[in-house]
Amino acid sequence: MLVTCPCLPVSARVSVTMDAAEFRRRGKEMVDYVADYLENIEQRPVYPDVEPGYLRSLIPTEAPLEPEKYDDILADVERIIMPGVTHWHSPYFYAYFPSASSYPAILADMLCTGIGCIGFSWAASPACTELETVMLDWLGKMLNLPETFIAGTHGHGGGVIQSTASEATLMSMLAARCKAVRYVQASNPEKSQGEILSKLVAYTSEQAHSSVERASLIAGVIMKKVPTDNSYAVEGSMLKKILEQDKAAGLIPFYFCATLGTTPSCAFDHITELGPICKEESMWMHIDAAYAGSAFICPEFRPLLNGIEFADSFNFNPHKWLLINFDCSTMWVKEREAIIGAFKMEPLYLKHENQESGIITDYRHWQIPLGRRFRSLKMWFVFRMYGLQGLQDHIRKQVGLAKEFESLVRADNRFEICAKVIMGLVCFRLKGSNGLNELLLKKITKSREIHLVPCHLSGRFVLRFAICARSTETRHIQQAWRHITQLSFELLQESQE
Ligand SMILES: *Cc1c(COP(=O)(O)O)cnc(C)c1O
Repeated sequence: MLVTCPCLPVSARVSVTMDAAEFRRRGKEMVDYVADYLENIEQRPVYPDVEPGYLRSLIPTEAPLEPEKYDDILADVERIIMPGVTHWHSPYFYAYFPSASSYPAILADMLCTGIGCIGFSWAASPACTELETVMLDWLGKMLNLPETFIAGTHGHGGGVIQSTASEATLMSMLAARCKAVRYVQASNPEKSQGEILSKLVAYTSEQAHSSVERASLIAGVIMKKVPTDNSYAVEGSMLKKILEQDKAAGLIPFYFCATLGTTPSCAFDHITELGPICKEESMWMHIDAAYAGSAFICPEFRPLLNGIEFADSFNFNPHKWLLINFDCSTMWVKEREAIIGAFKMEPLYLKHENQESGIITDYRHWQIPLGRRFRSLKMWFVFRMYGLQGLQDHIRKQVGLAKEFESLVRADNRFEICAKVIMGLVCFRLKGSNGLNELLLKKITKSREIHLVPCHLSGRFVLRFAICARSTETRHIQQAWRHITQLSFELLQESQE
């Protein structure tokens, strides 16, 4: 530990800050801190009681000139940081979708940080690239993906880890855009790229995640939303109808993003109908299964992925539901050339002598940034420590908890279920006005005992109850429901007064 001493030479100051011996000690302490945090997390209010700007007043306006003590920093974690943390791994957290976490993943992440390599090409760290390719094959096989998505030793497809589903969607759209321009130009060489780009149209469900529309803004293409049926899913006929209109108007449909497990209600687009339409129209079909994808490792959920054989690319987030901490968003493509060919840049300093061998991958061509972490370590540790069975148990347990919550809601006739409960998400509301349900959510948020977020379904304000933390048990679900019914009781009394 450094005692401030201006007479120390610069080299001494740098080396003394924290040496390996102290790192060992502090590292063990940190593991204890994290284990304590996770073990006792339910004693903390799940949602923080702070106002915007709370933190600035608690810390200095400038970085310190002289080194500070590690103990002081740790003390400030509890004083300054924790009061402003939303505890995503609390068993009382039911908002959004889960953020995966497990001890093997956390340990692997430490190792990743320790190795600290940047694996943009094979040569930049061969193990980083090769483990990733193999892990994506492992996971692809767990999902029973068609052989065309598996890299193997000489497949044309394969997988990559992106940071987020948003990036995977963007990548697929950019690759599709490039492919579409080339395709149109092949039969109309007189058409300029600009002319073609202005006519390209991407499609997605009106229930799709906002990141899909955002991708179209970044890609600079028109995006149209396809209406959904009464289960909030897109049917083939709905897409077909819009495509006919748009083609008649001289537009060029080039891309469709299907969703398996929509964010508002976990609805599943009918990809067995949509896939053949995309094929017929030479459109790229991307499948966004950010949340639900993890469940396809269970044979009973796998039928929901039927139609995957029509997709050009497929993505889901193991960092949501497969016990691998953020970030780990896995994406597979059928034709790796379609992705790589769209953005290849080869400055001399990134070339290496093995790149033409054909059996290895330079992942920098598959993503937007150059740099990338050794994220496949997390997959490797988690897959080996849990086994496929352990992962399936996790999914099934959480789906079971959602069903349990669903039956609590159904047993109370003041409430209604608003969408079919297929996985770990329950959409429900008080029978009555949107205003009433907005008030209920306000009460819930204000109480800080549980945390959930709303959505709109058919113009109705709906509460989403997503099973999130790995440590969630029946007793937490029961407690959450007691809390919700208590607040509802108060609300209904107040609204009668
Ligand atoms: C959560 C979610 C996303 C966004 O995921 P990121 O990895 O944060 O980009 C996209 N699509 C769906 C369906 C989601 O549920």
